[in-house]
Amino acid sequence: MRNVVIIGSGCAGNTAAIYAARANLKPLVIPGHHAGGQLSLTSLVENFPGFPEGINGPDLVENMKRQAQSFGAEYVHGAVIAADLSAHPFRLDVEGEWIDTRTVIVASGASARWLGLPSEQKLIGHGVSSCATCDGFFYRGKSIMVVGGGDSAMEEANFLTRFGREVTLVHRREEFRASKIMLDRARQNPKIKLLTSTVVEEVHDVGKRLVTGVRLRNVKTGEAWDQEVDGFFVAIGHIPNTKVFRGQIETDGEGYIVSEGGARTSIPGVFHAGDVQDRVYRQAITAAGAGCMAAMEAERYLEAEGH
Ligand SMILES: Cc1cc2nc3c(=O)[nH]c(=O)nc-3n(C[C@H](O)[C@H](O)[C@H](O)COP(=O)(O)OP(=O)(O)OC[C@H]3O[C@@H](n4cnc5c(N)ncnc54)[C@H](O)[C@@H]3O)c2cc1C
Repeated sequence: MRNVVIIGSGCAGNTAAIYAARANLKPLVIPGHHAGGQLSLTSLVENFPGFPEGINGPDLVENMKRQAQSFGAEYVHGAVIAADLSAHPFRLDVEGEWIDTRTVIVASGASARWLGLPSEQKLIGHGVSSCATCDGFFYRGKSIMVVGGGDSAMEEANFLTRFGREVTLVHRREEFRASKIMLDRARQNPKIKLLTSTVVEEVHDVGKRLVTGVRLRNVKTGEAWDQEVDGFFVAIGHIPNTKVFRGQIETDGEGYIVSEGGARTSIPGVFHAGDVQDRVYRQAITAAGAGCMAAMEAERYLEAEGH
């Protein structure tokens, strides 16, 4: 029987592990198939406090893991493929092995939706990004492209005009899903150029491990052309990793965990941490803060239950 099982080893899960381990709860961390989480996809992180020169994303999450291990956190391999949260103890199926636990911290993140082009995938962290707040700063005076047609795409495009000399917003349809106010703001921004009915077919240049441009195609006319860009931002939404808890933990329409305040979910003893509940901030530091909150709440819950 475990006291705390933490699902996910991104900033939220690792921070929860540090706090739970230092509270002597001997947490078990199930890292899933993306150990280290989203930061392991990126290169330089410049906005995590404490690193004036910046730090590589994979190093940052690895340091957090080592810190948690030094206090007794245990990491295993695998992902949670099923969960029974209907009774105590909670039961988690880690690829065939069932684990019983008194509390669960769900820190399974929200994966960015990508276009799915092989070239895009190979260039994530090398000019391809899903986070303007994180990476916009790297594109001062550069040419930027944003893909998407919703509010978040408009927001990212507007934000990126603070850095880029021009921002091209590419959308596959003629009509936008974005609200009128956000769309108007983008339309009125002289640095933003809207390109509708257009899809991205290729991101160049995998050989150079650097974004140098894209291959575009107009879906109405079939015309295809190359455009030079330095930064390529995909803003077509996120998918919260909550599938295995469906019907058990309360989630909203898009699958994000609904918070009951603090780190509490709809199930007492099950806590949330990080992007799996946060559709607004989605930063390493906010995820780490949420991991701290979840571990402290798990500790208090266990104490109140007499463990
Ligand atoms: C390319 C890129 C660059 C970024 N750059 C920055 C930056 O510079 N600064 C910044 O502050 N933020 C940045 N971010 C955002 C930041 O990475 C996220 O906000 C942060 O990683 C969220 O942490 P998390 O722990 O909540 O989730 P994640 O990092 O998404 O981690 C989720 C974890 O859950 C695991 N998991 C999922 N499903 C299961 C399951 N069923 N069983 C077990 N485990 C599971 C995954 O394997 C993973 O380990 C960037 C994001 C991306 C994609």
